[in-house]
Formats: sequence, structure tokens, C-alpha cells
Amino acid sequence: MKSLDSIRRSFDPLQGSPATFRDEFADWYHQTKLPQIRLIALLTMVLYVLYAWMEQDVAESMHGARMTVHGLMIPAALLLVLLMSFFDRLRQPMVFLLATAPVASTAANLWLNSHHQDFVYFLPELYFIIIWTFTISGLKLRLAILTASGSTLLILVVTLAGTIAPGIERLHLIWLMAAFSFGIVNAYILERAHKVMFINHKELALSASTDGLTGLWNRSRIEQLFNEECLRANRYGTPFSVILIDIDHFKQVNDTFGHTVGDTVLRQFAALLRNNVRQVDQVGRLGGEEFLIVLPETGQKQAHEAAEILRQRINRHEFDTVQSKTASFGVTQYRGDETLQRMLDRVDQALYAAKNKGRDRVEVL
Ligand code: GH3
Ligand code: MG
Ligand code: MG
Repeated sequence: MKSLDSIRRSFDPLQGSPATFRDEFADWYHQTKLPQIRLIALLTMVLYVLYAWMEQDVAESMHGARMTVHGLMIPAALLLVLLMSFFDRLRQPMVFLLATAPVASTAANLWLNSHHQDFVYFLPELYFIIIWTFTISGLKLRLAILTASGSTLLILVVTLAGTIAPGIERLHLIWLMAAFSFGIVNAYILERAHKVMFINHKELALSASTDGLTGLWNRSRIEQLFNEECLRANRYGTPFSVILIDIDHFKQVNDTFGHTVGDTVLRQFAALLRNNVRQVDQVGRLGGEEFLIVLPETGQKQAHEAAEILRQRINRHEFDTVQSKTASFGVTQYRGDETLQRMLDRVDQALYAAKNKGRDRVEVL
């Protein structure tokens, strides 16, 4: 089972990831593809207008229809794609148009040329459409496969019905196969590379913001979250509070049992904090044996209660080797329009007061 999973994951690196992570990738991928979609829509539009003009000399008939389709309709559809790409709420219709345009172009080519002797002059457009769909358009692999398969099927049905000379028909099939296989392999490799890049980026971002010993947020990340909460409180006027925690007489743990036991106590302490707050509360390690919890939409009274619950929970816990350990808590609520440093200073004073009053207690300021 495990090896089957790893084989699947080597084909699709997002295999087995939660749906939310896949959605996040889809969003990110779409954003990275937008500049490509815009540039290609513009370039293809210009090339089709040129094509409509050039083919007039070569084509035997249907000159008006050619000008309408290649000089007007396809460029208009591409212009629409370009314009829609600037509005996120038009994302689905834009992708739909981008995915159907190549099939429509294929159908137009076959309609305009397949009954004529000079059909072979116009075959290259069909191969280009397949390659364009897979690697140039900016479509996602799954949609590109669907679209290119639709075009290929149309081409096969019409060309095998037989207006091309048998020898050329075999060459045509080879070129068609080449266009499809190069296209699909290239699109697959590109999409897979983007998935790997996205996963690496996410892992890097996570490791840059977590504390290696405890797995909690590190100092810079918890300060960033703290700052975001200040901004939110300023904008919406919602209250929020912070709790600053320092383990009591932690130096003794190191001095008596050694650094390794000290580290184990820190890890267990961190897990206690994480497991005894709400999902929305953010827990970080500021350094040493000092921790900060940011409690969104929480007033001072509730924060005091939360700190008291934590204090009692820690009191009851049997830590490995050292058995019991206590901690001191400072609590404060955001007062509106104050700097992060000011609030940190106040919660630090509260903690200092808790230490001065004999430790293993909560003080509010
Ligand atoms: P107080 O009750 O006043 O807070 O006393 P304390 O001993 O906890 O405070 P102090 O600041 O004197 O000591 C903190 C100790 O934490 C000192 C340092 O050796 C230890 N420490 C800091 N970071 C780590 C770490 O990552 N691992 C371990 N094992 N110890 C650490
Ligand atoms: Mg301490
Ligand atoms: Mg300390």
C-alpha cells in the first residue's frame, strides 16, 4: 500500500494532500499562469489577424469566411480572454473560453479546408493548436488534455474520412502524434515541477516561522501574528488579549538534571499550552522558557480565565523526570491605538508582578 502511494505521489506530488492544500495550490498556480495567459492571448490574437490576411492569397475559396473566423472571431475571443483575466470573479468563464477556443479553431480549420486539394498547406495550424493547448495557452494539465483530445478527435474523424493522399496521411498521423505526445509530456512535466516548487515553498515558509524545539511559532512569526491582530483590532474595534508565560525556576531544571531534560520539559510545556487553548489562539515561543499566546476577539476577563485554566493544567501535569513544574502568567488586553511594544511592555510588567508575588500565579494589567 505504502509503495503504491509513493509511486502515485511521484506522478502527482499533491497526491494524498488535504483538499484545502490542493485548492491553495490551484489558486497559486492560476495566479502564476495569469501573465502567461495574457501575453499568449495577445500574441495569438495578432498572429491570427496576420494569418487571416496571408491565407487570402493561398486559399482556393471561402475568403470571406476565413476573414470572419481568423481575422475577427478568434481574435475577439482571445481579446475577451485577455480582458476577463483582469477580473478574478470572471475566472471560470475565462478558463472556459480559453479551453474551448482551440477546439473551435480546429473545427474552423477543418470546415474551411478539408474538402480542398490544398488542405495539406493548412495542416500545420492543427499541430500548432495541439501544442498551443498543452504548453502555450496556460491551461491546467487536466483541462489541456480534455481540450487537446477534443481537437485531436475532430482532426482524426475528418482526416481519416480521406481527402489527404495516403502517403501524406501517414505523415500527418505521425505529426499529429508528435504534437500530442510532446505537448502532453511537456505540460505534465511543467505542472509537476510547479507542484514540487509549491510544496517546497510551503515547507520552507513553515520552517522559517516555527520553533525547532517545540514546534510552536517562533518569535518573529508570533510577533507578526500579534501585529496583524493589532491592525484587525484597529480596523474593526474587536478586543484581543495576550498572555505572557515564563516557567518558574527553570534554570534549576538544567542545573539539576541537565540540558536534555530541560529541553524535554520545554517540549511538554509547549504541548500543554497548545492543547489547552482554542484553535484560533496563536501560541509562540519568544525564546528560552518564555511563551506568548495571542487570543483574538478575547477580552481581559476571558483571557484571565484562559490563563488560570492553563496555570492549573500545568500544575496538575506530571513532567518527565522533574515531575511538577509551575509557571507565572502576565495578561493584558489591547487598549486601542497603541504600539505592539507598549502592549508587550505592559504584559511583561504583569508577568514581573506575578514573579514578585511568589510565582505560580496570574497577574493582569
Ligand atoms: P524565574 O522563575 O525567575 O523565571 O527563574 P528561571 O530560572 O526560570 O529564570 P532564568 O531566566 O534565570 O533562567 C532561564 C533558563 O532557561 C536559563 C537557561 O539555561 C534556560 N534555557 C533557555 N533556553 C533553553 C533551551 O532551549 N533549552 C534548555 N534546556 N534550557 C534553556
Ligand atoms: Mg523562568
Ligand atoms: Mg525567563
